Amino acid sequence: MIRRFRADLHLHTVLSPCADLAMSPDLIISTARQKQLDIIAITDHNSTKQCAVVREMAADTGIVVLNGCEVNSREEVHALCLFEDDHSRNKFQIFLDQYLPHIPNRPDYFGYQVVVDRNNQILEEIPWYLGNGLQIELQEIADYTRQLNGLFIPAHIDRPINSLFSQLGFLPNELQIDGMQISKRADESQIRQLYDIPSDITIIKASDAHYATDIGTACSIFELAEPTFEEIRWAFHQKNGRSVKIES
Ligand SMILES: [Zn+2]
Ligand SMILES: [Zn+2]
Repeated sequence: MIRRFRADLHLHTVLSPCADLAMSPDLIISTARQKQLDIIAITDHNSTKQCAVVREMAADTGIVVLNGCEVNSREEVHALCLFEDDHSRNKFQIFLDQYLPHIPNRPDYFGYQVVVDRNNQILEEIPWYLGNGLQIELQEIADYTRQLNGLFIPAHIDRPINSLFSQLGFLPNELQIDGMQISKRADESQIRQLYDIPSDITIIKASDAHYATDIGTACSIFELAEPTFEEIRWAFHQKNGRSVKIES
């Protein structure tokens, strides 16, 4: 039986320099519950390090938490990369560490970048600024994500900066994507027309929340039998009767 799952697949945590320091795992989970979300993805800038704790803490809530991050490529394109398990997430984290430029963060200017545990105790402070572009091209990031069986989704493609279209001007033929994400206020049909995006490319909406009040303010509805990673992939590719649509 196919059921509906409400999803917000673009959320930042306390680890993102630009996100509210209050965006702790427990606040994210409790807000996701209030907003009746079934699936969320943790997508900090250039890091997956806060995913594990959020997943662990959400385990008995029924909320499915996807491992992810929002990469910033050498071309300054933002894209969501989602991974099924900790094995692939760890491999991708090593990849991120390898290509993140070693430019120190300036907490007073950009904000703190901390990984916290379930009690909001700081486990780690990331010394390098996570907002920088990685020293690797979008194409290679997409290829590696695919190699790890992940999902690759260019983020906020409607935005005038840090988007696929603002930075590259077009979707390269060889770039394999699983879908695209538009921002809260963007209109799907307008964006499809503007960038000539065919209907076989799925477009989702997500909040890109940096503050708790933003969580769940832009959602997509998945139609799945079970909220598994594989079914979510099917939904993006409009396969096996699975689908995803922007919540109206
Ligand atoms: Zn972004
Ligand atoms: Zn974001």
